[in-house]
Amino acid sequence: MSSQKRPALPANRYKSRTAAKQGACFICANFTCSLFVSDQGPVSDWFYVCSDHTTSPSFCSLLQDPPVDVPPPDTGTGTGTGKGVNASTATEDKSKSVPSEQVAKKYTLHRDVFYLRLRPFIQQFEKQQSSRLVQRLPGAPTHLPK
Ligand SMILES: [Zn+2]
Repeated sequence: MSSQKRPALPANRYKSRTAAKQGACFICANFTCSLFVSDQGPVSDWFYVCSDHTTSPSFCSLLQDPPVDVPPPDTGTGTGTGKGVNASTATEDKSKSVPSEQVAKKYTLHRDVFYLRLRPFIQQFEKQQSSRLVQRLPGAPTHLPK
């Protein structure tokens, strides 16, 4: 039997998204289309939150993107073997100036807020654990002791 020792929890790394439908904000219960989505952990989490809250340090803080491996701008010199480099530049110029896809901002939730997000996951885990335990216990006696 492979019973988990710890609950699977979402990572405290949320992206802001916009939903097609409105939902109640996790903080103030106002209706909003803004979502926070965490999809990096073993389980994913999401909830509605007004975009106003994202500027509040007591709710979350903006994550600075770690430096991505961006290749240095192609200066056209010193790359490759030099064979036939100039032959295709005329046709490929267009594709080189494609703007990079807009990256969603990432946030970490404040410890207290994140704890509230984790609680249902932990509670669900505990429920599973206890129901597993109950299955292992001997059944209750079906007859009264004499
Ligand atoms: Zn709100």
